[in-house]
Amino acid sequence: MSETNEIKKGGISVQTENIFPVIKKWLYSEKEIFLREIVSNACDAVTKLRRLAGLGQFDDTNEEFAVRITLDEDENTLTVSDNGIGMNEEEIENYLGRIAISGAADFIKKYENENGGEGIIGHFGLGFYSAFMVSDKVEVISRSFDGSATSRFVCLENGEYTLERAESERERGTDVIMHLSGEGEEYLKKGKIREILNKYCAFMPTPIYFDDGEKEEEKDKKESDKKDGNVTEEKKEEPINDTSPLWLKNPSDCTDEEYIAFYHKVFSDFRDPMFWIHINADYPLNFKGILYFPPIRPEFENLEGQVKLYYNQVFVADNIKEVIPEYLLMLRGVLDCPELPLNVSRSYLQSNSYVTKVSAHIIKKVADKLNSLFNTQREKYEGFWDNIKIFVEYGCLRDQKFFDRVKGSLLLATCGKKKVTAAEYLEGAKETHEGKIYYATDKVSQAQYISMFENKAIEVVLMNGPIDMQFMSLIENDLKVKFLRVDADLADALKGDGETFQSKKLEELFKKVSGNDKLTVKFEPLANENVPAILNIPEEMRRYEDMMRYYSTEGDDVASFSMTSATLILNTACPLVKKLDEIEENDKKEHVASQIWSLSLLAQRQLTASELCAFLDMSYKTLSDLL
Ligand code: ADP
Repeated sequence: MSETNEIKKGGISVQTENIFPVIKKWLYSEKEIFLREIVSNACDAVTKLRRLAGLGQFDDTNEEFAVRITLDEDENTLTVSDNGIGMNEEEIENYLGRIAISGAADFIKKYENENGGEGIIGHFGLGFYSAFMVSDKVEVISRSFDGSATSRFVCLENGEYTLERAESERERGTDVIMHLSGEGEEYLKKGKIREILNKYCAFMPTPIYFDDGEKEEEKDKKESDKKDGNVTEEKKEEPINDTSPLWLKNPSDCTDEEYIAFYHKVFSDFRDPMFWIHINADYPLNFKGILYFPPIRPEFENLEGQVKLYYNQVFVADNIKEVIPEYLLMLRGVLDCPELPLNVSRSYLQSNSYVTKVSAHIIKKVADKLNSLFNTQREKYEGFWDNIKIFVEYGCLRDQKFFDRVKGSLLLATCGKKKVTAAEYLEGAKETHEGKIYYATDKVSQAQYISMFENKAIEVVLMNGPIDMQFMSLIENDLKVKFLRVDADLADALKGDGETFQSKKLEELFKKVSGNDKLTVKFEPLANENVPAILNIPEEMRRYEDMMRYYSTEGDDVASFSMTSATLILNTACPLVKKLDEIEENDKKEHVASQIWSLSLLAQRQLTASELCAFLDMSYKTLSDLL
């Protein structure tokens, strides 16, 4: 203990030898990101110089600003060169010789009043060091726009560096020469570099050139073309990137063809998207993007979409779940969020209020788009409906706000191939079945019912999608309507005006063949004289039982307890039923009743294994009796 009570103050000092391995290991999850960092520094250098030219502090002589990337397989080097702002010796020492002093932050501070920071990528002052994930030595040769001499900076992977005046002068700008290490070996391939550039740099704001050499076959082809006199002019070198991507344009200046072509190119999908949303928000939320509804067939295709996240035209990541709500994950598109840091981590995104707002804005825009299609292009919208239905329904179930926004534009498909909203359906139902929507879950097994409804000009909607049951409940709660399956009750539509009778004997017989003495048997003339009987199970009971069956692991023979509340309606207008009532008690009578029972059950639901076996046995017997 010291004698005097002196307070010592200090700053934690960082030893570069120790911090370097940490950066290498933890800063970036993927090695390939080093190229994005170095190329975006080069683009920043150009953006800064342009900015200065705009402020009259640099004489822009109309030269072409560019970033060039060269790979030297013999020397093991990858070089990124730019003709941007450059650095003088002092700046190199400050920005590259010390960790986390970002020149970008300095620049933004200095020119902040003139909007100097807009569009500049760097932030943290760490990007440069990512080069050491793949290099053991990085050389920087730079000459500032201020006219001072060229400097040469050589930094080793342990953080040691030398800084001196370069032997020979260069033009304004910077070369970053990365001497690839064993860990960076895979980046000595042109194909690999091109792949990374296409992924991360495809929309960066300065033209980027990468000479990956001509493929031998192409060279041969050119030679032969020359011989044939086909070639007139050498092709100009093309940058690998599109410096003014469509999302930055004003939506009113973009054509449908441009949107479609952009989709084809970015997602390598030859089909056209169904529709799209161009978001161009400046204030209070600053982000831009284009979201496409891809031409998917949900029943056949992988539903995973692809939304690429950019930060000032620099690719950051695919499918950030925190930005796009899960029910919209089938969307494809690009989002440029200049307020997100480049090395986003999941936990950061979850708690970031900007991200939450971006996500809310996207939801609102999607809902607005659906409503506008519904209101102004109904026919087109109906055409898309089958493809988007499942996402829209799922979104409604997951997100009350989304549901509230789009509920006026939700469609129901009728068995007669029309698309109507619930409100439109109910309007048409006023006279005959107010407040009820009749639906079928299977067009085939319920065909008999459907046609009876249709004969009375009553629409039946088809609810056969995987989440239609839950969706129906949502609509029921919200609109105060009742969905009734066509076989839930004896709808007026099913009733006919034929003769009627009561028969205690038939009632007993059907209780017997159904094996259910609690079965309610009723006698009614039905509209269709050919149908001997129909089985009604109350809507609530059936839904409950469907749900039990859905959750059951046994699958088969799940309790048919709804049978206790089932009503068998025998059609008194049907000649077969009349005859059955008249004939004497015998084996045949019971056999026929039993078959009628099974058929009415079959129209209700899938038979259980034991019911199906019994039904088949009985049918074979019927056939042999016939002969
Ligand atoms: P960041 O880009 O996040 O600011 P970096 O470590 O990547 O951090 O770079 C630190 C600083 O070095 C930059 O802000 C910039 O001022 C300077 N710098 C890096 N590369 C270049 C370049 N090619 N031209 C001019 N300046 C550069």
